Amino acid sequence: MDDVLIIGTVALDTIETPFGKVEKGIGGSATYASYAASFFSKPAVISVIGHDFPKEYIELLEKRGINLDGLKVHDKTFHWDGYYEYDMNEAKTRKTELNSLANFKADVPENYKEIKYIFLANIDPEQQLETIKQIKNPKFIVLDTMNFWISSKKKSLLDVIKKVDVLLLNDGEARQLFGTISLVKAANEALCLGPKAVIIKKGEHGALLFTKNKHFNAPGYPLENIKDPTGCGDCFGGAFIGYLAKTNDLSESNFRKAIIYGSVIASHNAEDFGLNRLKSLTMNDIEKRYKEFQAIREF
Ligand code: AMP
Repeated sequence: MDDVLIIGTVALDTIETPFGKVEKGIGGSATYASYAASFFSKPAVISVIGHDFPKEYIELLEKRGINLDGLKVHDKTFHWDGYYEYDMNEAKTRKTELNSLANFKADVPENYKEIKYIFLANIDPEQQLETIKQIKNPKFIVLDTMNFWISSKKKSLLDVIKKVDVLLLNDGEARQLFGTISLVKAANEALCLGPKAVIIKKGEHGALLFTKNKHFNAPGYPLENIKDPTGCGDCFGGAFIGYLAKTNDLSESNFRKAIIYGSVIASHNAEDFGLNRLKSLTMNDIEKRYKEFQAIREF
């Protein structure tokens, strides 16, 4: 059986960074998350693409052993057009063309319904809720989102938050959602809604884990070569849940390890556009950087 169910977008991305531009390359939250999760476990994706989605991109995902039974084909692919300036922590959106996502209804295939580890990656919160309803007996649910859905569907998003084990947000989204400048206050408000843990991603500056009684501060990796941070948040989430599914250990100390694996994959992802870096990434590269993360924190 597949280990991790991931619902999110499979997209065509037009991206401009100070280091180059890509027109309609492979992207999407479910794409990055499933590719990252595949280093640790077997992901199964729920999403929609259009007839314009290149066949070679599908092959790329299939080659990684990602189950695409839940990928529908309808109309035209979701298209995100964004750019980064020298502060690469903040993605700026030029255009979001929902296309086939506008009428997408999450439909969980029969062979996905027993999956225990669920990642509700960034997509319409109403479809995240639909997915939860159709899963038989989930063990662990992680939720991610972004400013687009916080602005347009806040009420549904708050309903999803009440049903999940872990909430992932970046710092800007945490401040936007809870209307406070303090990340600690935002995390505490989120914990009051139901999740057992809240992880606030701070781009190149690392990530914070908040549980009821504990707090962990994961360092950022001192990355010299950064080209395109698109998908880093999704890679972080995918690797985080992929590692937890593989180890089947939901202790707080294992969360910390999963966060470091998330940071390892995300930092590699930023080294090139699209999936270019992850395509050549090996388990040796991953373990090497994991050890560097451990060394950074030794004193
Ligand atoms: P991130 O990990 O936050 O950098 O996510 C980047 C990915 O999110 C891109 O590949 C986009 O295709 C995708 N994306 C952009 N806007 C949205 C949206 N409103 N809903 C879902 N996915 C999106």
